[in-house]
Amino acid sequence: MSIKVLPKSVTDKIAAGEVIERPVSVVKELVENSIDADASEITIEIQGGGKDLIRITDNGTGIEKPEVKTAFLRHATSKIETAEDLKSLNTLGFRGEALASIAAVSRLEIITKTKTEKSGIKLLLHGGEIISEENIGCPDGTTIIVRDLFYNLPARHKFLKTEAAESGKIVDMVSRLALTETNIKFRLISNGKTLFTTLGRGDIKSTIISVYKDREYKELIPCYFKNDKIEINGYISRPSFTRANRRNQYFFVNGRTIKSKPIEKGVMSGYAERVFDGRYPIVFLFLKMDPRYLDINIHPNKKEIRFDDDVVVTTAVRDAIVSTLNTKDAVIKGEDIFTLNEDTSDFKYITNKNVENIPRNVNVEAEQVDIKQFLSTKPRSIENPVLKSEAESEDMPFNMDHKFGSPDIKEPELKPFNFDELTFGEAIFNTYITATDENNFYLFDQHAAHERVNYEKFIDAYFRAEKFSQVLLLPITLEVPIEIMEDDNWVKILTDMGYVMELFGESQYIIREIPEFMEISEAEAFANTFIDEYVEGNSIKNDVVIEKLITKACKSSIKAHDHISKDEILAMIEQLKLCKNPFSCPHGRPTFIKFSLYEIEKMFKRVN
Ligand code: ADP
Ligand code: MG
Repeated sequence: MSIKVLPKSVTDKIAAGEVIERPVSVVKELVENSIDADASEITIEIQGGGKDLIRITDNGTGIEKPEVKTAFLRHATSKIETAEDLKSLNTLGFRGEALASIAAVSRLEIITKTKTEKSGIKLLLHGGEIISEENIGCPDGTTIIVRDLFYNLPARHKFLKTEAAESGKIVDMVSRLALTETNIKFRLISNGKTLFTTLGRGDIKSTIISVYKDREYKELIPCYFKNDKIEINGYISRPSFTRANRRNQYFFVNGRTIKSKPIEKGVMSGYAERVFDGRYPIVFLFLKMDPRYLDINIHPNKKEIRFDDDVVVTTAVRDAIVSTLNTKDAVIKGEDIFTLNEDTSDFKYITNKNVENIPRNVNVEAEQVDIKQFLSTKPRSIENPVLKSEAESEDMPFNMDHKFGSPDIKEPELKPFNFDELTFGEAIFNTYITATDENNFYLFDQHAAHERVNYEKFIDAYFRAEKFSQVLLLPITLEVPIEIMEDDNWVKILTDMGYVMELFGESQYIIREIPEFMEISEAEAFANTFIDEYVEGNSIKNDVVIEKLITKACKSSIKAHDHISKDEILAMIEQLKLCKNPFSCPHGRPTFIKFSLYEIEKMFKRVN
């Protein structure tokens, strides 16, 4: 083969292949252009999952007639002029490639008009070649229609997924954009059906409800946290409102949608002991932090963001969640049980780990389609086009001026739950303690409450007490990875628990004594898991100890149907009040539930 310079028609396609992988990439680029053009309304219409047609209409600045053709040239952009401009970038695009790339692989039509021009212009391009051009009357703004994506690239066309899969990606991407750009009215239409319309009022809550629609989402409660490194706001579910998977956890960092293990970890640790194993709360969290604490030089294929210090993030997220869950708003409501989880597994005793519970779709607006139908077909991994394009240009400054962080950061009023506002009555059925405050009626489960009190007491005692050991007749040999042989810290942790062990050879320890409360097999298994986790850098929760303490707490607690006097009730509540988590028993069952006066009046048809 001889060496030839490829014609433009070919280079266009090669480059397009990189930027434009599938319909969702087209939608993303075009919507970002509309955002950059200061549009306050953007309509996204797709047919056939975007494979047949994508139409984006905005009411932004429009493009001046003489410039329209230029916009389709590679590296044509109005957003920067010099390399210096990159430093103060406040737009989503800047490389001037998207329009050229999209036009190269589709039949594209653009209609655009600026405010100052009397008429607009319509341009038709096939595979990047201009087919026709005409003046037309049209509203201010820009409409771009992309038909037959990859019609001239059969190989790429073949790799497109099913209509449902492609539209799922688009719906997810546009939903996330709508959540970060709450001042813009988004409308998403698929095959003629409106999936959602947002209000563009600038607040997250109404946007969440417009996009996700479920009646349940109205029940999300505000979350807020701030320290010197990080500011978090968002909406999270009460512990009574959970799903069987993480799909309903949305994280944004400085306005970008991301996946993140440290954030996930913070969420779960914030909800620890409040939800059952295998259940996942619904959260929308917007983190805002100085870009200096973010690693932007991540590999383009990674959809996760890297933080300088994961622990700072995990801890902040956990604290944000915990402080929200300690508020009045977060107390589980009686009606939650009937309305929120039709899969009532939340209130069944433990696990149900592997059961996928498909939530019922409650459509507020009947003519609108539930977007979860689309989302349910998509793979669990989250596309992150925004972050990706950021990462592709490794030396680009982090774009922090563009809507730095989250939309309406307003510190919500978070009222901590206060036991002192409650007036207690007797226990009914010798099981449920009654209480009221100004606007609510409460039922406490006397067993669950007492179990919580005892559990925290035992945990506390365990950590303070001297640990007793039992001597083994036959010592256990423990294989220890070389990398932690020099590290004394893990030995100390085990020793504090009651293990007595000594170094044996190059990579082994011999355990001569084990904690008094463990069986031999338990002690061996625990030490092994402990070492594995320690090597992985995970914090170790002593499950064996915790399980034992829970059992002990359960056994020593008053049971349902045990009669307790008013004085005993008050004494127990005094102790519950002092607990770190007075809201649930150690397994995640609620210790009390609230019925609002409003709900009660509704039951009696006094209000609607
Ligand atoms: P970039 O966004 O990186 O500048 P694009 O190829 O996406 O490159 O767009 C090229 C140029 O076309 C933009 O810089 C902008 O001036 C103009 N443009 C594209 N879409 C729109 C739109 N919806 N409204 C107004 N101008 C637009
Ligand atoms: Mg662009």
